[in-house]
This record gives sequence, structure tokens and C-alpha cells, in this order.
Amino acid sequence: MLKAFRAWRHRRLLAKYSLDDGLWQRLSSRLVFVTRLSESEQARLRELCVLFLHEKQINAAGDFVLDHEMKLGIAIQACILILNLGLDSYDDWVEVIVYPDEFIPRQEYMNEHGLMQTDHHAYAGQAWLRGPVILSWSNVETAWRHDGANVVIHEFAHKLDMRNGDADGFPSLHADMNRERWTQTFTQAYEDLCWRLRRGEPSGLDDYACESPAEFFAVASEVFFECPELLVENYPEVYSQLSMFYRQDPASKELAVQWEPAQ
Ligand SMILES: [Zn+2]
Repeated sequence: MLKAFRAWRHRRLLAKYSLDDGLWQRLSSRLVFVTRLSESEQARLRELCVLFLHEKQINAAGDFVLDHEMKLGIAIQACILILNLGLDSYDDWVEVIVYPDEFIPRQEYMNEHGLMQTDHHAYAGQAWLRGPVILSWSNVETAWRHDGANVVIHEFAHKLDMRNGDADGFPSLHADMNRERWTQTFTQAYEDLCWRLRRGEPSGLDDYACESPAEFFAVASEVFFECPELLVENYPEVYSQLSMFYRQDPASKELAVQWEPAQ
């Protein structure tokens, strides 16, 4: 009943609100993971963005100003992860906070000695358990580059990971997925990546993935959407598991684009 009501409400919102064609074309054509989608998938992504912008609050921190174009840019990148999962996958939080640049949250946390310590690190993004996603706009802007790094995808991957508790790289899986397979695949890949990093060998993933299994999952998700062929080449089993998790297969589309016969 609740599901039917939500679907009806979404249809009503989509009938009432839409996105400017020119703006949509301009932004979506800059994102490689959108250009790979079929026309019908792009249309679904566009609808998802309308609902996302309606249901989530994207607020600027302090006196920073966000316009519609900036908000839509964030929405497109946030929604690519849930294109085949649905907006309900983001139903445990409402706010995105955007700082102009990297930010220092000055959070207190308990260190390994049981003492309270203040975090003085500067962050490009953060995702809080059942709380907001925080982004640095200067880092969101560089996310347009097709280089496998994307802070928006990274933080929203953490959000999906947090649906079953703290981010740990082991999100709740779909019924047709195998938890043991996931655990084995990600544990082996994580250990291999850390080993490659120590030996200075390339892995296709940013070194930050070695921070923890949670970061490995978020960084692997960035590469999955931005440069899927790199993940297939280095960690094909991780690619296959993420493909089942996100219900998408961007590498097959990448190949289709590359092998499209000349007209
Ligand atoms: Zn992270």
C-alpha cells in the first residue's frame, strides 16, 4: 500500500516538475557514465534526478551559494548509483551540504587509547551514518573529469554501504547475491591491492582504497562507473559483484561504444 502510494506520488511529481532540456543535455553530456546509457536509461535517470531534487535538500554551507545547475550536477552523479535500485535506497537521510572547498569538520572521536581526539583533517567529502552527505564543491567540479575519481559517487557509495550500519564495505546485498562470495572477493582484492601498493605496482584504483574495506568499496564504485574497463582488467570478480549490486554493466557498454562500426 505504502509502495503504491509512493509510486502514485512520484508520478504526480513527474507530471508537475521537469528539467530544462538544454541544461540536462549540457550536464549529462559531460559525464561519461551518462553518455554510455541507452536513451530509455537516460530518461529514467532524468526522472530520478527530478525526484531526488524534490525529496532531498542540497544546502550550501555558510555564505556559499549553490544554483540549480550545481544542484543538478550533484543529483545526476548521486542518482547514477541508484538508477536500477530506486530512490528508496536513499530513504534513510535527506540532506546534502556543500562547502566551497575542502572542509575541516573538527569532529571529536575516541582514539585507540580510549582518549578523545579532535580530527583536524581537511575532507573532500564525508557521509554520515543516517545523516547528511557533505561535499566540497571544488572537488565536485574535478569529478567531471573521466579519470576514475569521483567524490560524489564515492560518498553516495558509502551511503548505500551504511544502510546496514557503519560503512564497512559489506552493504546489504540483493536476495540473488551470495554473501560469502562477496566477502571472499572483496577481502582477497583488498589484500591484493595493499600488497600491490607496498610493491609500487599499479592496480587501477586510487591508493586511498587501502585505508579500509569501506574505502575500498567506495573507491571501487568510483572506478566501476567512471572507468569500468580498469576494474575489469585488475579485479574482474569485484567488477562482477558490483555489477550485481548496482544492477548495471557499464563495461559491456564501454566495449559497445569502442566497437561501434564506422558509419
Ligand atoms: Zn571514503
